[in-house]
Amino acid sequence: MAYRINLLFVRETIKMITDFLDIFFPKRCLSCHKESSYVCPDCFAKIPLQRSLRCYVCAKRAPNGKTCPACKTKIGSCLTGLAIASDWKNMLVRQMIYEFKYRFIKDLADPLGNLLIKFFDLNKIELNKIINFQILIPVPLHKRRLSWRGFNQAQLLAFQLNKHLNIELIDNLLIRRRYTLPQMEIKDRNQRIKNVSGIFSVDPQNQNAIRDKIVLLVDDICTTASTFENCAKALWPLKPKQIWALAVARD
Ligand SMILES: [Zn+2]
Ligand SMILES: [Zn+2]
Repeated sequence: MAYRINLLFVRETIKMITDFLDIFFPKRCLSCHKESSYVCPDCFAKIPLQRSLRCYVCAKRAPNGKTCPACKTKIGSCLTGLAIASDWKNMLVRQMIYEFKYRFIKDLADPLGNLLIKFFDLNKIELNKIINFQILIPVPLHKRRLSWRGFNQAQLLAFQLNKHLNIELIDNLLIRRRYTLPQMEIKDRNQRIKNVSGIFSVDPQNQNAIRDKIVLLVDDICTTASTFENCAKALWPLKPKQIWALAVARD
C-alpha cells in the first residue's frame, strides 16, 4: 500500500510541475523548440514512416504484410503480421515516446496516433483496402503500472485509430496478470522473452468478443515482439480469424 501511495505521489508531483510549467511557459516543439504544440507541423512532416511491410521475424519484404509461413511455424507465432510505423532511430520519435510515458504528457497521444494513421494511409492497409481490421485491442498494462502512469499509452493510441478509422476498440478482454519489468529495461533477448511469457489471459465473461474477427493489437514500442506474441497466444483460443500487431517503433 505504501509503495502504491509513493508511486501516486511521484506521478502527481511530476504532473503538477508539468501543469505549472505549462501555465508560465508556452508549449514548445520537442524538436525545434518553436512555440507551438509538442510537435510542430514541420517537424511532424519530417518523421520517417516505414514505406514497406516486412516479415517481423526475418525482415524480408512482405507485400501483404504477412509473416512468412515458415517463420511463423519456426517460432510458433499466432501473429499473421506485425507492422512498425516509424523508426526508433529517429530522435523525435524516441523523445515523443519518452515524454509520453515517463513525463505523462498525454497530449502526445495525438501526434503519435497521427503517425499510425499516416502509416496506414501510406501502406494502404487501412480499413476495406487490403485488410479489413475489425477489432482494436491495446496491449494492457498491469493495474499497478496503470495506477502509476494514470493512463495506458497503448489504449490512448488505439483510441486515435478507433476515432479516425472507425474500428471497434475492446479494452476489457485482454488482462495482464503479472507485474513485470518493462521490456526496454532488459537487454538480454532470452530474458525479454521469459519476462512476458504467459502473462496475459482473457476475461472469461467475454468469450465471443473476437470470434471470426480480424484483430489488430496496438502498442507504442515493440522490442522482441514477445509481448505481442503472448497477447496473441492468449487471444487465439477465442478463435479470431487473424491477429495482427502495430507499434510506433521497434527498439
Ligand atoms: Zn518543430
Ligand atoms: Zn520471415
